[in-house]
Amino acid sequence: MQRTKLAIIGSGPAGYTAAVYAARANLEPWLYEGFYAGPAGGQLMTTTEVENYPGFPKGITGPELMLLFREQAQRFGTKLFTEDVASVDFSKRPFDIKGSSTSVLADAIIIATGATAKRLEIPGTRDGEFWQKGVTACAICDGAAPIFRNQPLYVIGGGDTAVEEAIFLTRFGSKIYIIHRRDTLRASKIMAERAMKHPKIEILWNSVLEKVEGDTIVRKIHLRDVVKNTVSQREAAGVFFAIGHTPNIGFLNHQLQLDQKGYLFVRPGTTYTSCEGVFAAGDVQDSIYRQAVTAAGSGCMAALDAERWLAEHGGY
Ligand code: NDP
Repeated sequence: MQRTKLAIIGSGPAGYTAAVYAARANLEPWLYEGFYAGPAGGQLMTTTEVENYPGFPKGITGPELMLLFREQAQRFGTKLFTEDVASVDFSKRPFDIKGSSTSVLADAIIIATGATAKRLEIPGTRDGEFWQKGVTACAICDGAAPIFRNQPLYVIGGGDTAVEEAIFLTRFGSKIYIIHRRDTLRASKIMAERAMKHPKIEILWNSVLEKVEGDTIVRKIHLRDVVKNTVSQREAAGVFFAIGHTPNIGFLNHQLQLDQKGYLFVRPGTTYTSCEGVFAAGDVQDSIYRQAVTAAGSGCMAALDAERWLAEHGGY
């Protein structure tokens, strides 16, 4: 079986940045980009304009940005495999990684498989309907798009993310509605108060989204009041899911320790996981910041941690 010093699993900003650093350190990394598990490039492949990634003052689209990351990783000799990792045996070193068509033994691994924003299966919100045509799961990525300017916008959820996204959207929309299925927010008290006091935010309590309609973009939503059991239709230009994220850790098969929120545990201030020689970067270990630039930063940290660990333990 083939062997590599370092395998990187995942191809968002964290994975590609780890690859740039590792490849420049002559670790000749293998990078599994994924295939069925999600597009190579991760969550940014499903966003439009990225205006907050430093170095691109005029903005850049998510897919363009990720192609640049990928090109840079390749330039220094990263070997890319466009396939999913099915399993990893973390019980002995080198670690045995089984991809869908290749296998490799790796002395160290960086896990950068990201997280997936949860979406609801509601008519009108799916791919091919109004997904990315007014329906998104990231207000901070997409909220500034022209279709949302001075329009009524709806955020689904009652946690800190929903409140934060609603507050962010007040810069763009005419009015922001938070649709929450209960009569109390889950968000922290301070965030909840901010939302309730904000003149441009209204909370639609005990409400669930039933349907999204439009022409080429979103125009209308159907909302059910779950207490009165009535349905109303409202003018809408944007629907933003903020109902949490799920880290992409299924293939790990419960072999690594998780934190209290179910994300991969890393030793604070480092990228070391609970398993010697295994490092984690990006959204798979970050339930708080979840930005491309923070993911890239932690990808760099993971490559440096892995390089030092290999120098000590791997004889490189
Ligand atoms: P949370 O899990 O805290 O909240 C998810 C919200 O979505 C809940 O209100 C939940 O409703 C609602 N929800 C879940 N599933 C459904 C569904 N099927 N239909 C309708 N509503 C649904 O996730 P967040 O992303 O908000 O936060 C994750 C973590 O990140 C939290 O610990 C949070 O504190 C932290 N965070 C902190 C921030 C900050 O401090 N600035 C900013 C953002 C996040 P219900 O309440 O009924 O369960």
